[in-house]
Amino acid sequence: MNTEQSSIWHERAKQVIIGGVNSPSRSFKAVGGESPITISKAQGAYLYDVDGNRYIDYLAAYGPIIAGHAHPHIVEQVNLAMSEGSLYGTPTPYETLFAERLQAVIPELERIRFVNSGTEAMMSVIRVARAYTGRSKILKFAGCYHGHADLVLVAAGSGPSSLGVPDSAGVPASVAEEVVTIPYNDVSALEAVFAARENEFSCILIEPVVGNFGIVTPDDGFLEAVRLVATQYGALLIYDEVITAFRFRFGAVQYNAVEPDLMALGKIIGGGLPIGAYGGKQAIMEQVSPLGPAYQAGTLAGNPLSMRAGMACLDVLMQPGTYEALAKKADILTKEIHAAANTYGIPHTINRYGGAFTLFFGERPVRTYQDAVHTDGKQFASFFHAMLRRNVCLAPSKYEAWFLTIAHSDDDIAHTVTAVQESMRELQ
Ligand code: PLP
Repeated sequence: MNTEQSSIWHERAKQVIIGGVNSPSRSFKAVGGESPITISKAQGAYLYDVDGNRYIDYLAAYGPIIAGHAHPHIVEQVNLAMSEGSLYGTPTPYETLFAERLQAVIPELERIRFVNSGTEAMMSVIRVARAYTGRSKILKFAGCYHGHADLVLVAAGSGPSSLGVPDSAGVPASVAEEVVTIPYNDVSALEAVFAARENEFSCILIEPVVGNFGIVTPDDGFLEAVRLVATQYGALLIYDEVITAFRFRFGAVQYNAVEPDLMALGKIIGGGLPIGAYGGKQAIMEQVSPLGPAYQAGTLAGNPLSMRAGMACLDVLMQPGTYEALAKKADILTKEIHAAANTYGIPHTINRYGGAFTLFFGERPVRTYQDAVHTDGKQFASFFHAMLRRNVCLAPSKYEAWFLTIAHSDDDIAHTVTAVQESMRELQ
């Protein structure tokens, strides 16, 4: 496969954009590649690169794409919105209509605020929790990613640290000291940390289904235990549903009786445009300005383009059978991956939830970030490149997911299965 033009564009990008990418995970650094593929167009289930190669896309832009690229209904609504002016700096009916639609299916969102990214949503929701409780410490789980704000760049995927070790230069140790990190699915660690620190925590942040060290579901009873501890010690429970909301129908919040106090959303709810949102219990959200003392603002927040793209995306997703179909495609694909890996004797584990899954190279079940760290990154890198050569685009990291979209056809799945079989044969 010729990817010469991609390399040329990457070299050119590096002269003006730092590292040649506007988000580090887009580089192929984690898979040992020289330059990433440069995509100039996407349609349905496919990405098209600048050399004219077509790829079946399971990256889905790290989650937001679920209806397929350039879905006609979303395109129509965005074009309409654009023709009516993209930004007013005033309230607009579209933000209220969209908030009403979100609340209708996620009643936990008693009050909502729109922002422009998942990072902003998490930054803001933490501020609200601190304002409401008058406490500053936060508890999070190792390997969960909640955006790139200072506070949450602690054990955010690049190594477990128990307390006070920032994952990034530029994050002051004093900020990191506000964050305590424990392993996911570890109730004893949770209880111990709260018993030792009693009333210090403003909130517990959690991905209720993890997407950031691969797809990892909570063990039975884990979210219930988290809820219990939060309530017992007066900390707020915050669900980070930036990946999960509308990836798994209305989000992880619908699957059991656990109710968070606050939640953050993003990705899919923008229909491919920039967006974030946070919300939850009205009494807590009343902390937010102009009602309360917790300041949060945004020039582009609630812009009519993102609102109308988001509503159009929901129109598509709410068609009957959408989520069943996504899960079925993922089920077929994962069964075939298992079979191919077994044929060639390749140790592997697949974590699937609905229409998303992660293929790990290694036999050990993946329930925590440490489990994911121990999977074979070199083998993943070889597999990634073997798939790319066969026109299948995966996320360039062993910690990411394959995301199914409405646009993936039976033929796409069949092509992918063949690519998997050939790639596995290369690995043996
Ligand atoms: N929270 C989770 C669970 C995420 O996966 C991400 C991004 O991948 C974020 C927050 C940050 O969202 P954004 O990249 O839109 O700032």
